[in-house]
Amino acid sequence: AAKRGRLGTSVYEPGLDEHHAAQLTVISDLRRALDQCELVLHYQPKADLRTGEVCGAEVLCRWQHPTHGLLGPDRFIPAAEETGLIEPLTQYVLDHALAQCQAWHLTGWDVPISVNVGAQCLHDMTFPEQVAAALKHHGLDAAVLTLEITESAIIADPHRATDVLTRLRELGVRLSIDDFGTGYSSIAYLRTMPVHEMKIDRSFTTNMRTDASSGAITRSLLGLAHNLELEVVAEGVEDEETWSVLAALGCDIVQGYCLSKPLPADEFATWLRDRTLA
Ligand code: C2E
Ligand code: CA
Ligand code: CA
Ligand code: CA
Repeated sequence: AAKRGRLGTSVYEPGLDEHHAAQLTVISDLRRALDQCELVLHYQPKADLRTGEVCGAEVLCRWQHPTHGLLGPDRFIPAAEETGLIEPLTQYVLDHALAQCQAWHLTGWDVPISVNVGAQCLHDMTFPEQVAAALKHHGLDAAVLTLEITESAIIADPHRATDVLTRLRELGVRLSIDDFGTGYSSIAYLRTMPVHEMKIDRSFTTNMRTDASSGAITRSLLGLAHNLELEVVAEGVEDEETWSVLAALGCDIVQGYCLSKPLPADEFATWLRDRTLA
């Protein structure tokens, strides 16, 4: 345990002087992880607030690291973004998630999936073709796929991001703005971005019962999104009361521990079966 702790510290939480060497380790480590399929995907259900029915799942990746154990995305996504590995990582997640989606389809379940897209993908004009190829490879309709993008990814190069998003939209993929309200100058971009959905960040929804300003922000974002004809997903919904408040406010979709935490594919299938039979 001591050795793991020491290694964990030196590899993933470097001091400034160690930053470069540590990054090289992360790069080769992550490359291997992608080659050896060490990244595992978890699925978190979303429910339609009007019917209570499951309407899809967000794909969230974890790294089953041979020595460090199961690592959450906060431990490696930032490094992947910094080192250019986020593009192959996004491809990996897309490919494995679509394969799972097709497997579920064959057993009679059509579960639309949402995949998180790294910032750099939005600046790569070939990304839409890669998405089209992956859908074709797995024999899936573009409508099963929602891509979640963040405001900061758009703001880095709004013109190119708009081109990439427009191409993706033309393919028939749904687009969602993630973590809305946590970045900068987001409202201006909302007007011109070809997106279908807004996700209200959990920093607002989780506290809305107890914190008046979080509640006010959530209500304002809902109004804004609906005026722009976007569907709204509230993430981080942990309790029944918040669920009811959001339903009363006319929010469209909920996601959060209240429904389920993210689950490995087989546990997700069991969860879905139990829920459908119940
Ligand atoms: P995100 O896209 O905002 O994902 C939602 C995060 O909130 C997930 O954390 C999820 O487990 C957590 N969450 C869901 N419901 C609740 C709740 O009711 N309460 C609380 N407290 N938390 C909840 P996770 O899985 O640790 O992912 C963290 C972030 O890592 C994600 O934030 C996303 O930005 C990034 N990420 C995860 N998987 C991928 C991926 O495949 N590609 C890329 N580019 N980023 C990813
Ligand atoms: Ca997300
Ligand atoms: Ca989010
Ligand atoms: Ca978030």
